[in-house]
Amino acid sequence: APGSRSAALRARMEERLLGARFRYINQQLYTSSSREAAQLFRSDPEAFEIYHRGFSRQLQRWPENPVDRIIRYLRRRPASLVVADFGCGDCKIATSVRNKVHCFDLVPLSPLVTVCDMAEVPLAAESVDVAVFCLALMGTNLQEILEEANRVLKLGGTLMVAEVASRFEDVRAFVSAMAQLGFKSVSKDLSSPFFLLLEFAKSGSPRPRPAPGLRLRPCLYKRR
Ligand code: SAH
Repeated sequence: APGSRSAALRARMEERLLGARFRYINQQLYTSSSREAAQLFRSDPEAFEIYHRGFSRQLQRWPENPVDRIIRYLRRRPASLVVADFGCGDCKIATSVRNKVHCFDLVPLSPLVTVCDMAEVPLAAESVDVAVFCLALMGTNLQEILEEANRVLKLGGTLMVAEVASRFEDVRAFVSAMAQLGFKSVSKDLSSPFFLLLEFAKSGSPRPRPAPGLRLRPCLYKRR
């Protein structure tokens, strides 16, 4: 019937528009500072909803979600460890492990979220055992964000980073920049073609100078 045909056409056009908005917001998140990202979502809460819908769809194309790897890792370690999840999204980590998990994001997708910019989280210095960035190293001020993770981590504490493989220009340069920020490399899991899972241990305070090797490419999605 013509009515249902035009409804289907309209639905398809709406999908396309949402896809375009997702790609645009995603690009903004990877090319602005974390403060600008906070401002974007504060001024346009709908942008956050569109972003998250698009993000979940992208992940569904992957054979494995890195957040599940991090959950398995945490389950192998004592439940007494305190965790901070930077850019927690829907808080899957907090709802899947027995540990105390502090969840930080720009907008609350769940009541467990503390709304803040990850460059400035409301935690005391050296108060957490494990800090997690799962597909969340988005701002251009990566150094500031990772210095904040260093501040809240206890000495010897664990930093887990899961990031899209294509974002790394040079993994070795990234790892040595991390050393400058007080994070010693513990293990690199390169088994997925989609993402890298890097484990670090806090070895000390950051050295106060630029760490250019920290740079990551933005993760831009193609139109499909
Ligand atoms: N870690 C989750 C979500 C990843 S999507 C998972 O793996 O499923 C990236 C998340 O980082 C988004 O929820 C986004 O809102 C958040 N984010 C991006 N910049 C942020 C910032 N400056 N402060 C806090 N959260 C941020």
